[in-house]
Amino acid sequence: MKTLESLGDLRSTRVLVRSDFNVPLDGTTITDDGRIKAALPTITRLTEAGAKVIIMAHLGRPKGEVKPEYSLAPVAERLEELAGVRVTLAPDVVGPGAQSAVADLKDGQIVLLENIRFDPRETSKDDAERAELANELASLADVFVSDGFGVVHRKQASVYDIAKVLPSAAGLLVVKEIESLRRATHDPERPYAVVLGGSKVSDKLGVIANLLEKADRLLIGGGMAFTFLKAQGHEVGSSLLEEDQVEAVKGYLQTAAERGVDLLLPVDVVVAPEFAKDAPATVVDADAIPADQMGLDIGPRTQERYAEAIASAKTVAWNGPMGVFEFDAFAGGTRAVARALSEGDAFSVVGGGDSAAAVRQLGFDESTFSHISTGGGASLELLEGKTLPGIDVLED
Ligand code: ADP
Ligand code: MG
Repeated sequence: MKTLESLGDLRSTRVLVRSDFNVPLDGTTITDDGRIKAALPTITRLTEAGAKVIIMAHLGRPKGEVKPEYSLAPVAERLEELAGVRVTLAPDVVGPGAQSAVADLKDGQIVLLENIRFDPRETSKDDAERAELANELASLADVFVSDGFGVVHRKQASVYDIAKVLPSAAGLLVVKEIESLRRATHDPERPYAVVLGGSKVSDKLGVIANLLEKADRLLIGGGMAFTFLKAQGHEVGSSLLEEDQVEAVKGYLQTAAERGVDLLLPVDVVVAPEFAKDAPATVVDADAIPADQMGLDIGPRTQERYAEAIASAKTVAWNGPMGVFEFDAFAGGTRAVARALSEGDAFSVVGGGDSAAAVRQLGFDESTFSHISTGGGASLELLEGKTLPGIDVLED
């Protein structure tokens, strides 16, 4: 993968950067600026090198139409504060407004193009339409830097097609993400533990299949655990269950046994009569879930076992919360796993949007993890062992 160094001296060079600024908004207030902060190392590197920086980003799903509520204006303001250099928001994507903003751009300053998804060609399935937008974007700049890790699994004009027209390189965030996720999936230091949770097995089938080939230990929690328990012949009450995946899961249990993978399932479960914040929680054995109760977290004995399996590993990849961490009474399992990763010495990677959110919400110091991915879908696809179009196109 080509890196920033390959682009040479960038003074007075117009550098088009794809960043991921898809931040959560409450009206026009940014409620979590984590993605802007994650994009700063590359942006600062470029402004300090005296480049003219032109950033492309999307916000929400305007579906190819100009919708003022999806304007990047709040992002431009926050970026200016964080980067400490002038940021001009272009009033359009590649129109006259963008062209004149770029023409006026001084070395070391930034133009943020308006929401790239205001242009329907960005996400078009038609190669020619995307190529046309990519060409118009390319006319604004000399080189392209791909740094929006959250979108590198998308074959979109500002991610993929643009790299075919301009000299291109990966930004610092993309390099860090790829290196960390590769280290946690390709030839990991052993013992290698994979912790999987989240709501549905069906979302994670590809990840399970790929990592079963590689992991020494697979720890299962979250909603998906109940389809595993069912596959083992246990009743799961009103817990989240994907009947249509039971056969697939039986196959995984068999593969794990054949390969000698230590597949850990919950031995106890925190249950409640309903999915609610203040539902009365009790702990039951995993093979004795009452018919009228649903499992919303892994129980304390399971937490302890999982923490041990993590503490003695050298590499840990974690995707998916262990329970409904959004409700305090069911956050214990996710907290226990996060704590074990945070306190352990293993190389630890957290992938998945909700898992990363859980780490923050539960108050862990992010720097105690080796890597917390900024891209939910992209990190999931890397854990599945897929090649991502936006990365593939940067290979030399
Ligand atoms: P990620 O975004 O990290 O990949 P997912 O999107 O797969 O994770 O799943 C996250 C969601 O799974 C959370 O909102 C959490 O509340 C839910 N969840 C976890 N355990 C359970 C459970 N036992 N029952 C229902 N939902 C669960
Ligand atoms: Mg999610």
